[in-house]
Amino acid sequence: MNRVKLFSGEQIPLEMHKPKIVQKIRLVPPERRMQAMEEAGYNNFLLKNEDVFLDMLTDSGVNAMSDAQQAAMMMADDSYAGSQTFTRLERKCQEIFGTRHFLPAHQGRACEHLLAKVLVRPGMIVPTNYHFTTTKAHIVLSGGEVVEAYIPEALETTSTYPFKGNMDVEKLEALIEEHGAEQVAFVRMEAGTNLIGGQPFSLANLAQVRDLCTRYGLILVLDASLLADNLHFIKEREEECRGLTIREITRSIADLVDVIYFSARKLGCARGGGICTNREDLFVKLRELLPLYEGFLTYGGMSVREMEAIAVGLEETMDEDMISQGPQFIAYMVEELQKRCVPVVTPPGGLGCHLNAAEFVDHLPQEQYPAGALAAALYLVSGIRGMERGTMSEARDAEGNEVLADLELLRLAVPRRVYTLSHVKYAIDRITWLYQHRRLIGGLHFVDEPQTLRFFLGRLAPLSPWPEQLVGKFEEDLGC
Ligand SMILES: *Cc1c(COP(=O)(O)O)cnc(C)c1O
Repeated sequence: MNRVKLFSGEQIPLEMHKPKIVQKIRLVPPERRMQAMEEAGYNNFLLKNEDVFLDMLTDSGVNAMSDAQQAAMMMADDSYAGSQTFTRLERKCQEIFGTRHFLPAHQGRACEHLLAKVLVRPGMIVPTNYHFTTTKAHIVLSGGEVVEAYIPEALETTSTYPFKGNMDVEKLEALIEEHGAEQVAFVRMEAGTNLIGGQPFSLANLAQVRDLCTRYGLILVLDASLLADNLHFIKEREEECRGLTIREITRSIADLVDVIYFSARKLGCARGGGICTNREDLFVKLRELLPLYEGFLTYGGMSVREMEAIAVGLEETMDEDMISQGPQFIAYMVEELQKRCVPVVTPPGGLGCHLNAAEFVDHLPQEQYPAGALAAALYLVSGIRGMERGTMSEARDAEGNEVLADLELLRLAVPRRVYTLSHVKYAIDRITWLYQHRRLIGGLHFVDEPQTLRFFLGRLAPLSPWPEQLVGKFEEDLGC
C-alpha cells in the first residue's frame, strides 16, 4: 500500500524508496526547445537528451536501480564459463518461476529471435492476445504470421474493463480449428500488453488459454517483459487473487506456461533478457543456437554486472511496494487528467499514461500524424519527451499509401522509481494547458521518410507556422 490520504482529502501515491544517486536534468527555455525540435525534424526520437527535461519516451533500460542492485554488480564474476554470476541468476529464476532451465540472452528481442528460429516454420501462425513490434518481426522473418485474438474491449480507449489484455478464448479456439493445431507454432500471451496501453490479463484468462493449449497439444509462451505491472493488477483487480502474495501469483502464472521469456530492460530494472522453461526438448534446441547468436551459455551477450542486477531486480519485483509504484503514479496521472477532461486511455495501465491523440487533436486527420504532432507540441510547451504510437509508427503499404493506425496515442512512459510526484504534477499541468489550447496544434508531414521503421529516423516539418504560434501563446500565458 503506497497510496495515502492527506488531511486535505487529497490522495497521493507515496514513494516507498528514496534517491541515493541522482542525475541532473535541465529545463531549457522555450526558444531553445523550438530550435531543438527544428533540429530534430519534429521527431522526438531525434532530440538530444540534454534538451529533454522529463524523458517519457520509454520504460526500456531507464528504470532506476536499487542500492542492492548496484552493490550486487560489484560482486560480478567475469569468468567466461562456469561463472558464479550465471548460477546466481539461474537459481533466482528457478526459485521465482519454478523452472529448471535458464538461457541468458542480450535483450527481449533476442529471446524472440531464438524462439522463432526453433518453433516457427513457413506458413505457421502464432496466435496472441496482442502483437508486439519485435515479436512480430521475428515471427514474420521465420515465415510465420502473427494472428491476434484480443477481446473487443482491448481497442476501446475509454473503458472500465479491468483486463483489456485478455485473450478471446473462443476466437483462439476458432483460429486453431481453422488452421489446424499442427500449423500453430505456439500460443503467445503478453503480460502487461504493451501496445494497447500496458493492459493486463487475468490469471483466470491465462488458465483458460492453458486448458485450450493442453487440449490441442500446443506450446504456451509468456512474454513476461511487463510482468511486474501485470502482477500488480492481478493482485489489485482480480477478486480470487486478493489473498495471494506477489510470489504466489508469479508462481501460479509460471506453472501455467511452457516457456517464459523477458526483457530485463523492463522486468528486473536492468538490461538484458532470458528464457526460462521446464521443457527439456525446447531447452536443448534453444541451447544449440545460443552460442551462435548471443554468446556462451553463461552470459548470452549480457554483461555479468547486469546479470547480477537482474537477479536482485527479479527478487525486488516480488515486493508489492516496488511493483505498485509505476502503476500508482500512472493511475494518479490518468485520474488527474480525466478530472481536467483530457482524453486518456482508461483504465490506467502499467508502462505509462497514454493520451488519446485522436480526440485531443480531433481537428487533425490521421494523414497529418495527430499523435506525432501532439508529441512535438507537448515537448515545445514542457520539455517532456513522449512517444508517438499512431500512424507515424506504421509503414506504408506496397503501393505507397498510408496505413492508418487503429489508435492514435501519445505514450508518456513512467520509468520505474525514476520520477517524483512533482514531476508528474508538472506534466499534468502542461498537458492541461496544451489541451486548453489544442486548436493551436497543427499537422506534420514527412520531408525525409525512410523506407523501414520511419518513426525512428524520419524527419518532418509542420504544415503551417503553428509551432511559433503555440510557443508564443505559451510564453504570453506564462508571463502573466
Ligand atoms: C520491450 C519489449 C520486448 C522487447 O524487449 P527488448 O529488450 O527491447 O528487446 C518484447 N516484448 C515486450 C512486451 C516488450 O515490452
